[in-house]
Amino acid sequence: FKTLLKLSYSTTHTMAPVKHYDLLVIGGGSGGIATARRCAEYGAKVGVAVGGVIGGTCVNVGCVPKKVMFMAASHMEGIHDLPGYGFDVDFKKFDWGNLKTKRDAYIKRLNGIYDRNLNNSGVDQITGYAKFVDKNTLEISGKHYSADRILVAVGGTPSMPSEEACPGGAKYGIDSDGFFELEELPKKTVVSGAGYIAVEMAGILAALGSDVTLCIRHDHALRTFDQDVQELLLEELANTGVKVAKRTQVVEAVLAENGTKTLTLDNEGTKSTMEGVECMLWAIGRHPLTKQLNLEAAGVETSKKGHINVDEFQNTNVDTVFALGDVTGKWELTPVAIAAGRKLAARLYNGDLNSKLEYHDICTVVFSHPPIGTCGYTEEEAKKIYGEKNIKIYKSTFTNMYHAMTERKTKTLMKLVCVGTEEKVVGMHIMGIGADEMTQGFGVAIKMGATKKDFDNSVAIHPTAAEELVTMR
Ligand code: FAD
Ligand code: NDP
Repeated sequence: FKTLLKLSYSTTHTMAPVKHYDLLVIGGGSGGIATARRCAEYGAKVGVAVGGVIGGTCVNVGCVPKKVMFMAASHMEGIHDLPGYGFDVDFKKFDWGNLKTKRDAYIKRLNGIYDRNLNNSGVDQITGYAKFVDKNTLEISGKHYSADRILVAVGGTPSMPSEEACPGGAKYGIDSDGFFELEELPKKTVVSGAGYIAVEMAGILAALGSDVTLCIRHDHALRTFDQDVQELLLEELANTGVKVAKRTQVVEAVLAENGTKTLTLDNEGTKSTMEGVECMLWAIGRHPLTKQLNLEAAGVETSKKGHINVDEFQNTNVDTVFALGDVTGKWELTPVAIAAGRKLAARLYNGDLNSKLEYHDICTVVFSHPPIGTCGYTEEEAKKIYGEKNIKIYKSTFTNMYHAMTERKTKTLMKLVCVGTEEKVVGMHIMGIGADEMTQGFGVAIKMGATKKDFDNSVAIHPTAAEELVTMR
């Protein structure tokens, strides 16, 4: 047996590569595809190992299907508001199954577009999961491919609780991938987690009519966001119908005879039972897909959590290997993976030696109800960095004019964090209708170093909610 093992090991190592590339990319997701195409545009000979469905997380089980569901939920909110605007509408039902079929078909179309674009860019697609043979060679579907450089863009996958932490939790629960497989709206849902996904999915399900409880370990969700946003988020979650169970964890799940789940909840030592749960959704973070890569063969270092360590230029500790996107654990957002990839392409194949992504003043939106848009430092971060006496906060809370006619109300919060006598805007935090679309433009101003005076010098657009950002005193 030992001889056989030795033989197969040496075969793996001596197998001749079937093809050599300038660059091999591992992962056909947001970051991998963007980098591969840009490098090919600059003249590099590129191959991509595509494990899983082309497009990766964002297209298949992330941003895209999530936004479809967010928009459906927003329509449902709009339906509640219609009588306020004089419409006498007879609302019959929301057909989750029909929407899912259409959503799945849309994603299939996108998969086709990604596939064609990659082929048209002259990039070779190599189907299968890749693992390192050495720092210039990958094994993909039993064959070896070599390259001068290798880029790791394998992303991540949802984490589930261990059987020890929550017996039955993983078995009877679903993760965000499972959310997109749901064939109908669950009547009763428990969401565990306090990040983007927990907040977004709890909001979608509640707005569409599910009875949702969100279990969070602390007193707030989105604890890395500005504190004022955290406070308003709690109010608005309640407003959407989400019951927030603070300092509460799901510690056991069992299957009842009728197919629903019975959950044991632990609120700081006090246990309670919740019956009749149709959907137990875990949204407790994601972990990188590095275990299967055989990184040791190339000598690539990772953090304790398995993320690949990179410097500001996406270099790993190995000269031929680079990494970007979720697998690096920094700003796990699609446009970040894409931007990092395009900057890297310009550095490696277009002679722009200083090309790198600046990982600050990155705008991000949480598609909560209403959405949250943020850019730059929170008030707390700014105080720590610049000192409390150097910070000036401008803040406004109001009800959007849209609600003047509606019974349902949501609040809008706008906040600017400014620094120094010139009042440079170093942070912007918005929650309210339209915050998702508002944030990008203001993000440009912040990136350019705008001061509060620059904001004020821009004449307001009336009547909008955004005008508040240039008129706050
Ligand atoms: P991925 O897109 O995950 O791509 C990695 C690809 O590599 C996958 O196809 C995977 O199957 C493949 N792969 C893995 N291992 C191997 C291997 N060994 N060999 C070959 N291939 C391999 N971001 C936003 O900006 N906006 C949003 O609204 C948003 N919403 C989200 C909603 C959800 C529910 C989730 C889960 C994520 C969301 N994100 C959002 C985050 C976004 O999807 C990720 O940041 C982005 O997809 C990361 O891109 P990536 O290229 O690093 O990885
Ligand atoms: P996050 O890392 O954002 O949040 C997970 C949170 O869950 C933790 O911060 C923690 O909050 C809580 N948590 C962790 N472990 C447990 C546990 N065992 N039990 C209960 N709660 C737990 O992960 P997500 O999965 O929400 O999203 C991953 C990333 O994907 C995001 O960070 C974001 O970058 C990206 N994304 C972006 C979106 C967008 O752009 N709109 C949408 C969705 C995802 P606490 O410490 O407070 O308990």
